[in-house]
Amino acid sequence: THFGFETIAEALKEQRVRGVFSSVASNYDSMNDFMSLGIHRLWKDHFVRNLNPGRNPLTSSTSDQKGWNILDIAGGTGDIAFRMLDHASHINNDAHTNVTVADINPEMLAEGKKRSLQTPYARSPRLKFIEANAEKLHMIPDNSIDLYTVAFGIRNFTHKDVALKEAFRVLKPGGVFACLEFSKVENPLFNAVYQQWSFNAIPYIGQLVAGDKASYQYLVESIAKFPSQEEFSGMIRDAGFLIPGKGYENLTDGIAAIHKGVKP
Ligand code: SAM
Repeated sequence: THFGFETIAEALKEQRVRGVFSSVASNYDSMNDFMSLGIHRLWKDHFVRNLNPGRNPLTSSTSDQKGWNILDIAGGTGDIAFRMLDHASHINNDAHTNVTVADINPEMLAEGKKRSLQTPYARSPRLKFIEANAEKLHMIPDNSIDLYTVAFGIRNFTHKDVALKEAFRVLKPGGVFACLEFSKVENPLFNAVYQQWSFNAIPYIGQLVAGDKASYQYLVESIAKFPSQEEFSGMIRDAGFLIPGKGYENLTDGIAAIHKGVKP
């Protein structure tokens, strides 16, 4: 582009995102609680239960007992990864399914590794942490992943379309792309209250509790800029995915939404 301004803006965005997550890594749970009115744990439980990760030996063929290869992008603190391994192990009796947690931020990964010590998966071959940008997953082979998840991560990516193409490349045919992200509230009255909460309360609470107004301001703005449910579903389709049904499920009237795509 002219004078490389776009490239500079993109580099600044990536640097800003890095800074935000470095500064919130250690009080990450309170951040999520403010941003989601405390409901993010229920959304994450629902997201994982609905994906039903793991190969159930009672229902799958005996020759096929390898478990799923799951890639949890922007997996930060391991919130989604631990839930998926628990679900595979306890609900599907699958001791083989493995999760690779990839995140661009080493501090978020360090927090995840620390937290993994409280789980049965620490030092297990079923859980791996890698530093990687969702837009450049060259360390992950083509057609190698059964389930790609990204929770509260994609709105921070500089080129969402590139990340979606990478998701498509690494998934096996029949593999599933699943995204949990803040979205657009549907009820206008509830939306008015939610917007007040987001723009007028969250940054100040961030200042009071974490001494960091700017990071919380960024997070609120990034939610407002993220495409609507329909638009984002269109972007998933444009990356080559088949869209099951309506393509998304609203959570808490659209404060968050789950989007899915299947690689043909
Ligand atoms: N998935 C976790 C969860 O649901 O609790 C963490 C979400 S956290 C709000 C967003 C994460 O996205 C951060 O850990 C950040 O470092 C990561 N991230 C931002 N841009 C990224 C990129 N381009 N590639 C990979 N990770 C990225």
